[in-house]
Amino acid sequence: ISQKFSDLFRSVSGNNRITEQNVRDVVQEIKVALLEADVNVRVVRRFVNRTLEDATGDAVLRSVSPGQMFTKIVHDRLVEFLGDERQDLQLKGPDTVSPILLLGLQGSGKTTTAAKLAARLSREGRKVLLVAADLVRPAAVDQLQVLGERIGVAVHVVDGARDPVAVAKAGLKRAKKELYDTVIVDTSGRMQVDAALMKELQAVKKVVQPVESVLVADSMTGQSAVDIAKEFNEQIGLSGIILSKFDSDARGGAALSLKTITGTPIKFIGVGEKTEDLEPFYPDRIAGRILGMGDVVSLVEKAQETIDEQEALELQQKMAKANFSLADYLDQIQRVKKMGSMESLLGMIPGMQGRVSEEDLNTDELKYEEAILQSMTRVELENYRIIGINRRKRIARGSGTTVYQVNRMLKKFDKMRTMMKKVTKNKKYQAQLMQQL
Ligand code: GDP
Ligand code: MG
Repeated sequence: ISQKFSDLFRSVSGNNRITEQNVRDVVQEIKVALLEADVNVRVVRRFVNRTLEDATGDAVLRSVSPGQMFTKIVHDRLVEFLGDERQDLQLKGPDTVSPILLLGLQGSGKTTTAAKLAARLSREGRKVLLVAADLVRPAAVDQLQVLGERIGVAVHVVDGARDPVAVAKAGLKRAKKELYDTVIVDTSGRMQVDAALMKELQAVKKVVQPVESVLVADSMTGQSAVDIAKEFNEQIGLSGIILSKFDSDARGGAALSLKTITGTPIKFIGVGEKTEDLEPFYPDRIAGRILGMGDVVSLVEKAQETIDEQEALELQQKMAKANFSLADYLDQIQRVKKMGSMESLLGMIPGMQGRVSEEDLNTDELKYEEAILQSMTRVELENYRIIGINRRKRIARGSGTTVYQVNRMLKKFDKMRTMMKKVTKNKKYQAQLMQQL
């Protein structure tokens, strides 16, 4: 899905003009890509409609760089479908016990995730007890014990136990007595959702009274992970989802459908087999990853704040008339400063890295140029040709620079104007330049 998206956006984001038909074509391709990624059909339909609505509006088609605007719209929609804000576990303070129930089918990654979560929470300073309540899978108890030892977290085990409810109850009792503040209960799974499993889990949940009931869903199973989540949510009740094996999920379909279909937020992703391979789920980062490109979105956001179409047009007209003044130049410098360093700015545009010279990126130089310009009078800013040696001396003193630096800046500006005159005669290059401003 990521490769597909990045190809799509590469083709569209360079365009100076996009048409409504253009947008429709791309949205159609996005639709196919999502369906191929095993995203739920209803989710795809909703996504496509919302994106079309936003993207065919006037604001986009007439904006400074419609292709990038469009990319941002798709990104924002992705973020929304992934759940907007990062959702953390809702645990209580350390003076009481917060039980976390981990649920899921066999092989979804519950036991591994229990250890990952325990390691993470104890790193955060919580006192964690793992409870081995999967009595169905033969080696499940041993597996949890081995993992617990590895991460230095206690594991509550009842030898020869048959009843998961009793084990869970005993685990909680021990936690209260020994002042643990977090209990993670590893439960059993089955190959499929079946009545016996649901009954067992409902009973366990009743005694555990968890503050978090978290489904561990295997992201590699795509659409069926979503069906399973729906089932667990309806029958047991979920407060969160951990999407395991995200590292091997090339398509990303489950991530996109889960929140929309179940209304339950994804809180973490599993990104490997080791106990440290658990990451918080950040919708905006995942959206960026799905789009598979440089950080176009934050670039567009920043640019939006600092330059609007009207301004750009005025600047363009000025340049065309070749009366670009030092005052305009100061304006440009301040705009660049507001947007962050030139380097980080250009670095955000895919394909732009390495295409700018060292000199362009010298933000120190911009800083003293700004100081020089601010030491000039209004008249000087409007007509740089009147700035003779005495004025240069005064400006250097006023800005804490040297006459040499003032000279260099004025020379650079003169060169720039000459270049602009040439450039403004060339319509195609002009458009290109405008995009970069
Ligand atoms: P359970 O039956 O639900 O308890 O599943 P397990 O925790 O035993 O995990 C099943 C398999 O999935 C094991 O081989 C784990 O190493 C593997 N696994 C779990 N989480 C991840 C993950 O995030 N990434 C990868 N690559 N493998 C995982
Ligand atoms: Mg297990």
